[in-house]
Amino acid sequence: AVPLLEVDGLDVAFDTPKGTVHAVRGATWSLHQGETLVVLGESGSGKSVSLHAIAGLLPKTGRTAGRVRFQGRDVLGLRGEELRRFCAENYGMVFQDPMSSLDPSFTVGDQIAEILRVHRGASASDAWERAVELLAQVRIDDPPRRAKQYPHELSGGMRQRIMIAMAIALEPPLFLADEPTTALDTSVRGAVLETMAELRDRLSMGVVLITHDIGVAAAVADRVAVMYAGRVVEYGTAEQVLHDPGHPYTAALLGSLPRLRTLRSALTAIPGSPPNAARTPTGCSFHPRCRFATDECATELPLLRPTGSGQVAACHWTERLTADGDLGYWRDG
Ligand code: SF4
Ligand code: MG
Repeated sequence: AVPLLEVDGLDVAFDTPKGTVHAVRGATWSLHQGETLVVLGESGSGKSVSLHAIAGLLPKTGRTAGRVRFQGRDVLGLRGEELRRFCAENYGMVFQDPMSSLDPSFTVGDQIAEILRVHRGASASDAWERAVELLAQVRIDDPPRRAKQYPHELSGGMRQRIMIAMAIALEPPLFLADEPTTALDTSVRGAVLETMAELRDRLSMGVVLITHDIGVAAAVADRVAVMYAGRVVEYGTAEQVLHDPGHPYTAALLGSLPRLRTLRSALTAIPGSPPNAARTPTGCSFHPRCRFATDECATELPLLRPTGSGQVAACHWTERLTADGDLGYWRDG
C-alpha cells in the first residue's frame, strides 16, 4: 500500500542575517494509515520544523528541499489557498499550548461548530449537535453543558481535549501533534494520550506526534524517528528502537528513562550541550557528547544504515557497540 505520508530527504533551511541555518537535513521516514510515528528529540533537533514543513506552517524565510508526499501527492509544492484548503481537509493539528489556539471570546461549542459550518456547510443546529457529539468522543463529561462554556472555564486537560475535538471534526486522515501533553499536568497526560490512540483507531488516522519525552514515545509509538541536530539518527519500529537501540544517543535517552521521566531531565545526565542548528559539530553531531566517540567520529558523517535489529541508525560503530552489548550496558547502567 502507498504510505499515508512519506518524508524523503527533507531539508529545511532558514536565511538569517547571520547566514543560513540548516534546521533539518535529509529527514526520511514514512507513516501508514492507523499508525503512530513519534519524532523524538530535544529542543533544536529539528522535529517541530519538520512538522511545520509537512503542515505548510514554515515562515517565509524557510526553504525546503526533498519530498513530502501525502497519499502520493506532493505537499511541498502547494501554495496559498490551495495549501490552506489541503491542510484543512487532510490534517488535524494539535499544539503544545491549547490556550493560544482557542478564541477566548467564543464558547468551545461555537468554535467546534464553526469548523463544520465553514468546511461542511452544516446548518447552525446540525453543527452544534455535532460539536456536542465530538466533545463526547474526546471523553469530556457532560458535553451539552461543557459546549456552552468558554476556554478559561475549562482545565488545561479539557482545553487540549477541545483542541483534539476541533482537529478531528472533519475526520482527517492525518493527525499532527506537537508536544500535545507537555503543558499538561502529569496526572492527565496518560488519559489524553489514550484518547488520541482511541480516536486514531476508530478513525483509522495516521498520527505524527512530536515529543521530547521518551515516556510518551514508549506509551504510544508504532514507529520512532530519533532526531539530533537536524538529522534522523535512528528510525524503526518502537520495538526495535526503544528495546534494541542502535545509536548511542537513543541508548543514552533510554538509560535515563526509569529514573528520569522526561528527555529534558534525561539530557542533564548526558554530558555536553544540546545541538545548535547554527553551529553543528563536524562529523557525527553527537560526538562531543558521545562516550564511544573515536577520531573518525569527529570528521566523518555517519549515514543511516540497517542495524542487526532491523531499524536504521547513523553511527559508525553500531555493529561493534551492539555486538559488545555496550548500548544495552548503557541502558541498564
Ligand atoms: Fe558516537 Fe561515533 Fe556513533 Fe556518533 S558515530 S554516535 S560519536 S560512536
Ligand atoms: Mg518544538
